[in-house]
Amino acid sequence: MDTCVVIKNAVLEAHVLLYGATLKKLIYKGVNVVLGYETEAEYRKNGGYLGATVGRYANRIADGKFTLGGREYDVGCNETGRGHLHGGTVGIDKRIFTPISVTPDSLTLGIRLKDGEEGYPGNMDVTVTYSLVGSSLSIEYNAVSDADTVFNPTNHSYFNLSGGGTILDHTLKIDADEFVPVDSRLIPLGHTESVYNTPFDFRTPKPIGRDINAAHEQLEVCGGYDHTFVMNGETSLYSPVTGITMTCRSDMPGLQVYSGNFLHDAWSGFENNCGIALETGFYPDSPNRPDFPSPVLKANEKFSSVTTYSFI
Ligand code: BGC
Repeated sequence: MDTCVVIKNAVLEAHVLLYGATLKKLIYKGVNVVLGYETEAEYRKNGGYLGATVGRYANRIADGKFTLGGREYDVGCNETGRGHLHGGTVGIDKRIFTPISVTPDSLTLGIRLKDGEEGYPGNMDVTVTYSLVGSSLSIEYNAVSDADTVFNPTNHSYFNLSGGGTILDHTLKIDADEFVPVDSRLIPLGHTESVYNTPFDFRTPKPIGRDINAAHEQLEVCGGYDHTFVMNGETSLYSPVTGITMTCRSDMPGLQVYSGNFLHDAWSGFENNCGIALETGFYPDSPNRPDFPSPVLKANEKFSSVTTYSFI
C-alpha cells in the first residue's frame, strides 16, 4: 500500500511518500510542477530519482572511494563505468522514512542509518522537513552522526512549470559566475570555470533550449546541462506556458543543474528534457577535493541546511 502524506495551505499542496521522503506532487495554481508517478510501485521499479531525497552523498564520488581521518572508505560504484552516484545501490531515496511530526502544512520524516551502510561511516539520524509557508515550499535537512562522515543530501525533483511537455522553453536564471567542468565520467576535472561567453552563462535569463546543443565539449560530454554551478545567490525558472516562476534559494554552495538529458534512458517513463532537476548541495566528488567546500560532518556535530522553492 502506498503511504503518502499530503500537506497543504491556501496556495500550495505537496504529496510526500514515506518511500525515499519523495516529493510526489507539488501543486500550485492547479499545476503539478514536478514529475512523478501515480503509484509507489512505479517509484520502486523505475530509475531517475524522481522527487526523491537523495543521500548520504548526492551526486558522484570518483571510483566510489574517499579517505577520511586516515582511513579509506569504499562506498561502491553503483553507476556502471563511472563511480558512486546518489548514495549507492540502496541510497536513502530507496528507504522508508518514519513520520515524526505532521501538521496541515508541514511534515517531518526521519530515518536512522547504520554505520557501514553503503560503505559510509557513522550511525546517523537524519530528518527531512517539508514546510509550506505562503507560496514557498522549504525542505530542511537535519542530521547527526556518531562518527566523522560525509553528508550531502538533496532533493531530486524534476521541475516542469508547464505541467507537461519539455522544459526547453523554460527560462532559467542562475546567479553563478562559475561552474564545475567534468570529465567523461561526470567527475570534476578539479577546477571551477567561468561561465562568461559560454552556454553556461545564465546570469541573464535565457531559455534552457537556446544553447543546449551548442558545440561545447562540456555539453557534449553529457548531452546537455548536468553540471554544478558555484552559487552566488538564487535561481529562477519560468514557464512561458503557465506564467509560473519558481525561485530556488539555499544555504548550500552548489547547484547541480540537470536538464533531464538521460531521463528516457533511465527507464523513468519520461522523455528526455521533460523536467529539470535543480539539486542544491556540495560539488561532486567533494570528499576527494580539498579545494571544494567540505562535506565532512564531524562526529556529534549538527548538520542543518534549508532549500526553499518559492512560486509566483
Ligand atoms: C545526475 C545525472 C543522473 C541523474 C540520475 C542527476 O543528479 O546529475 O547525471 O543521470 O541524476 O537520475
